[in-house]
Amino acid sequence: MEVQDVVKNITWLGHDGFLIKGDGKAIVIDPFQVKQCEPADVILVTHEHYDHCSPEDIQKVQEASTVIVTEADSAKKLSGDVRVVQPGDKLTVSGIQIEAVPAYNTNKDFHPKQNGWLGFVLTVDGVRIYHAGDTDLIPEMDSIKADIALLPVSGTYVMTAEEAVEAAKIIKPKLVIPMHYDSIVGSADDARRFSDALSGTCEVVVL
Ligand code: ZN
Ligand code: ZN
Repeated sequence: MEVQDVVKNITWLGHDGFLIKGDGKAIVIDPFQVKQCEPADVILVTHEHYDHCSPEDIQKVQEASTVIVTEADSAKKLSGDVRVVQPGDKLTVSGIQIEAVPAYNTNKDFHPKQNGWLGFVLTVDGVRIYHAGDTDLIPEMDSIKADIALLPVSGTYVMTAEEAVEAAKIIKPKLVIPMHYDSIVGSADDARRFSDALSGTCEVVVL
């Protein structure tokens, strides 16, 4: 499918949470303070911070058949069919190709590289979607191949809007969606600055 069609099947659940539908599946990433969401076939959890690994929210979308893919610290807080992965791992779950990629801080200490916390690249309807997790602009982004990139823009714990602009220029996706604002930290203004700075470079969809 085209990127324009796939993006219509991406729903922002707030903060870093997304529902992505495609290939007949529902994939939920980092659900947090979710008001309404359908059951997930696959849940991806980037790291153990409470606003990303929320057992209460995960229970809302988890069924007996749901597979959770996450890192070791989050796995300790979760139950059910939990698959622990490390950055660099690739696996196929419910027919969805998933790559675990690094996510870490370079100029602050909230997300140390050695924790092995995650971003994900998943392929849905033939389109590669990158959810960056909580990260700064890291050298590994150079080798991320993504059609759609979901990038944090709030600053404080993750990239600022300006750093996320630089990340988008390195990753070169066809379309970017800002995230990680309007909940714990960051505001719609961060998303707007991100969007404005990329105009003419890459399509930005603010959900
Ligand atoms: Zn975090
Ligand atoms: Zn966060």
